[in-house]
Amino acid sequence: MKRLVGLGFEVVVESGAGTSSRIPDAEFAAVGGKIGKAADVAKADVVLKVRRPSEAELKGYKAGAAVLATMDPYGNDAAVAAMAKAGVTAFAMEFMPRITRAQVMDVLSSQANLAGYQAVIDGAAEYDRALPMMMTAAGTVPAAKVFIMGVGVAGLQAIATARRMGAIVTATDVRPAVKEQVASLGAKFLAVEDEEFKAAETAGGYAKEMSKEYQAKQAALTAEHIAKQDIVITTALIPGRPAPKLVSAQMVASMKPGSVLVDLAVERGGNVEGAVAGKIVTTANGAKIVGHLNVPGRVAASASLLYAKNLFAFLETMVDKTSKQIAINRDDELVKATMLTDAGKVVHPNFANAAA
Ligand code: NAD
Repeated sequence: MKRLVGLGFEVVVESGAGTSSRIPDAEFAAVGGKIGKAADVAKADVVLKVRRPSEAELKGYKAGAAVLATMDPYGNDAAVAAMAKAGVTAFAMEFMPRITRAQVMDVLSSQANLAGYQAVIDGAAEYDRALPMMMTAAGTVPAAKVFIMGVGVAGLQAIATARRMGAIVTATDVRPAVKEQVASLGAKFLAVEDEEFKAAETAGGYAKEMSKEYQAKQAALTAEHIAKQDIVITTALIPGRPAPKLVSAQMVASMKPGSVLVDLAVERGGNVEGAVAGKIVTTANGAKIVGHLNVPGRVAASASLLYAKNLFAFLETMVDKTSKQIAINRDDELVKATMLTDAGKVVHPNFANAAA
């Protein structure tokens, strides 16, 4: 807020917007913000949001307004088309390229890091034993075995967190680059390291969708391992595709009563068979599958702190420092990568169908 005011913006905050992060209206007002209501969006040249605006909300937006949010556009062509129709210039923060200049604007990283941490906390809270080994006069509590499936930003933080809590940690991924990172965090790597594995990373650093044959080999390798785990945390995603199914109902059934699975991919279809978005499911064999929604929101104050930095850093690139006006450089690679709609049209190449 303070920095937005410093850039020359007149800033209006929707009353109560900071409640979940324990930032009262008065705190925004103290650094130069005006406290308003949702309808004030009609006057805004720039709208900073957590999620994309609904069609109903868009009715109140000014044509030409820049909207920065996590847009979740895949599979939501109608919502993208609605933003074009409303005439707003919409930016999908999650499309920020993973280049050095844009690291400070990378919402996927800032939020996935927190999600990875919180997944371990949630898993530990549902687990009815201690995580670290404890040698006491009354006996020894064995260390919990934690298995992390998918070692991107969230997975790496989950490994680090589980290690800090004293668990014995193993991890798997389909990208070879991960192997060394897992070892450097003191965990053991487990994967089918065949020719397909060696080529599983895209130029952008993401995972490819693996063949049916690879998935079968991967399942065979992990099935035996999962049966011995106390907590399994899954984070595997493939950009623009449903999350890969990594844990079958049979694997869940092989786990000991009291074991816990935390599925961070549940909003994208889930990695664990039987995971239900927004619910904790107890299976017939007494295992629990945790499918919390919006996991970064469970550490709301930290999520908000980092997300606000991400938004500010991107917006700052769109402000002419001399005239203090919005000046979007449509040739900038960050703008090109994130802009979904502009001047009444869907402009992002991945959503050409939404334009129809
Ligand atoms: P993501 O959220 O897209 O996926 C999570 C993990 O799931 C990935 O590691 C992926 O390889 C894995 N996965 C996919 N399919 C799988 C399967 N079938 N089995 C097991 N694992 C599977 O990933 P992310 O956290 O966004 O990270 C993607 C890449 O981006 C990484 O290489 C990361 O280091 C890189 N990155 C770079 C920057 C930067 O340079 N600015 C910032 C953040 C992340």
